[in-house]
Amino acid sequence: NWPQILKKMKTEYCSSNIAYTTWIEPLTVYELSEDTVYILVKLKASLEHIEEKYMLPFKVCIAEVTGYEYEVSFVTEDNAVIHRKKAIAAKKQKSSAVLESANLNPKYTFDTFVVGSNNNFAHAASLAVAESPGDIYNPLFIYGGVGLGKTHLMHSIAHHILEKDSSKKVLYVTSETFTNELIDALKIGKNGNELAMTTFREKYRNNDVLLIDDIQFIIGKESTQEEFFHTFNHLHVSGRQIIISSDKPPKDIETLEARLRTRFEWGLIADISSPDYETRMAILRKKEELDGLERYHIPDDVMQYIANNIKSNIRELEGSLNKLIALSNLEKKPIDIALAAEALKDMISPDNIREITPELIMDIVSEHFNVSIADLKGRKRNAEIVLPRQIIMYLCREMTDTPLKAVGALLGGKDHASISHGVKKIAADLETDEALSNTVSIIRKKLNPL
Ligand code: ADP
Ligand code: MG
Repeated sequence: NWPQILKKMKTEYCSSNIAYTTWIEPLTVYELSEDTVYILVKLKASLEHIEEKYMLPFKVCIAEVTGYEYEVSFVTEDNAVIHRKKAIAAKKQKSSAVLESANLNPKYTFDTFVVGSNNNFAHAASLAVAESPGDIYNPLFIYGGVGLGKTHLMHSIAHHILEKDSSKKVLYVTSETFTNELIDALKIGKNGNELAMTTFREKYRNNDVLLIDDIQFIIGKESTQEEFFHTFNHLHVSGRQIIISSDKPPKDIETLEARLRTRFEWGLIADISSPDYETRMAILRKKEELDGLERYHIPDDVMQYIANNIKSNIRELEGSLNKLIALSNLEKKPIDIALAAEALKDMISPDNIREITPELIMDIVSEHFNVSIADLKGRKRNAEIVLPRQIIMYLCREMTDTPLKAVGALLGGKDHASISHGVKKIAADLETDEALSNTVSIIRKKLNPL
């Protein structure tokens, strides 16, 4: 529309032809943002004159031609560079805010997902849904064992949708979050705050795309299934996309109400199984590339050794690579098969029978709350770390025979009294705090899936 705008400027605001050719004609659009037109002034010396004389006319002409009231800003070559940097920074900030409000991990995208025979169907279905959400497969139900890439795929879909259209409302939550927020809304509601339930419903129903991860943990409570049922219906009838993941197909989730089960079967069900050797190698290579691990020159036979020994959990596959490098740094040893064997010795174990140890509890809790082992062992006292730490204390007490002193040692040398306090605190809170009790029972299930 620029020529049209210039023409309008010429006929309506320029006193002479010369004024037009001197001042207006050389101007070009430097950039168009959501609400501002940036106009490039080639001759720095003329900037002031143009700003003073033509700012308002430009606003008017642009509004008349485009039908939208843009701000107008004149830039010169040298401040244009600064301006561009600012714009890029603002854009970055904006997109990370979008990701955050959707609860997305920036690393989990289609680009970083390795496609193999174990997941190509789930991957293709995810891509199709990401291309046209709400259209073809609704709901999309992805299932598979722990650490096989369900969460990664779900985030990839959400990223893809937001990249194509950042105005889309996309919400990713775990079924635990859904349940706990519902419990809290109901509780506050009982205390007379009627807005609580309305807010809850708005949050979950006002979406173009809703992703619920690990639906197997929603089971149990009737009121949760009831609410989820209505949420599902609300979204589904209005053509909004629902994506669900679980460790099992709907028909095998025993505690799932029949009406939810049927609905989960309406769309497409896709499974992810354990990766074959080729895929495991490809994932290790990808991880090496993405994390910049090439500088360690991990030999082929070491990669093959890892891929040969870690078969059924991609998180462990990645974890073993990290551990190998950490060991090599720490002990100043070369990366070879002997060191790999050392790194893997806790992980190479028959998959089904695993003993519940304090270390396992710590790993699972760390992953569940997304806090590092170092923080759990450390001295930080903020709530995000204290709660998981106390849950570890409690579960060690309840699920293992470890003496409190040993638990204290594991948690970086906490004394007997603080461990005992933590155990009691959780035990007492569990009596009254339904959301906490939900969380603890989910962690128990993660520890002991059978
Ligand atoms: P799940 O949700 O099924 O338990 P995740 O999606 O959390 O598993 O995956 C565990 C880890 O393995 C993540 O770090 C993820 O990035 C990685 N991962 C899983 N599948 C793949 C894949 N096909 N390509 C690359 N990384 C993968
Ligand atoms: Mg997951």
